[in-house]
Amino acid sequence: MFASSPFPELLHHARLWLQAYALVLLMMGLGALAERRWPATLLQSRAGQRLNMAYAALYLVFVEAAKPLTAAASVAIVNAFGGGMVVLVSRGWGALASFVIVLLTIDLLEYAFHRLQHTWPVLWKLHSLHHSAVDFNVTVTLRHHWLEVLIKGCLLYPIVGVLFRVEPWIVGATSIVFMIGNYIAHLNLRVDLGRYVTWVNNPQYHRLHHSIRAEHLNHNFAQLLPMWDHVFGTRWIPAKHEWPVTGLDDGTQPHSLLGALSWPLGQHAEHDGLPVRKPVAVLDKEAK
Ligand SMILES: [Zn+2]
Ligand SMILES: [Zn+2]
Repeated sequence: MFASSPFPELLHHARLWLQAYALVLLMMGLGALAERRWPATLLQSRAGQRLNMAYAALYLVFVEAAKPLTAAASVAIVNAFGGGMVVLVSRGWGALASFVIVLLTIDLLEYAFHRLQHTWPVLWKLHSLHHSAVDFNVTVTLRHHWLEVLIKGCLLYPIVGVLFRVEPWIVGATSIVFMIGNYIAHLNLRVDLGRYVTWVNNPQYHRLHHSIRAEHLNHNFAQLLPMWDHVFGTRWIPAKHEWPVTGLDDGTQPHSLLGALSWPLGQHAEHDGLPVRKPVAVLDKEAK
């Protein structure tokens, strides 16, 4: 007998990748339309945006390729801890309460992991790819290091399954909210939300997290709800006209797909040799 062909499976993954990338292009296209109408900063690099879009395509290849591994890790971890400590309701108004509980839990986990990314030098080396974007716009949304897919998929998100036994559609519904919120937060969009600027993550609030200015460093970590920054003392409320320059303080950024994929290994070959911006914990230790 012949071994079964891997071709149909490859085709299946290719179709899923194509659907995911089509959604990315749609979201970035919608975002770009809004950015063109109400830009926060003008004269952004078209080449940089094309690079981010090409990188997003490769990033999604890795997301698709990593699925079997992250799924296996999730099942193993959740089963090892008994398959969900609290059973969440999936019908009627109870489903809405379950949705809110899962949303808040994932948002808190994202906040905690984001703090770690700015504290642990190894994680910062990966996360600095996201912060290296000098031009802050919707195409930066998926500019995350490909290794972070594995770290989050294998170690962070399974925590939700350890805590809760919940219908997958409820988790899926929260991921749609996070996905849309993530694109909106990275828009190069000058929108004045006034006193509502700290209610939900938004272009001005998250722009401050990407700011090059020292006083903004290590603020506004929230993925969706700035209330976590308020609770843990990392909130910076943007002033009306506060739309800072973004990027790493030495301007380091990848200029090619290879530079982005090999980040942080290749970064020193692409700039003048200055160290990249360090997380605040490292700066504190050096100051002592
Ligand atoms: Zn960050
Ligand atoms: Zn960001």
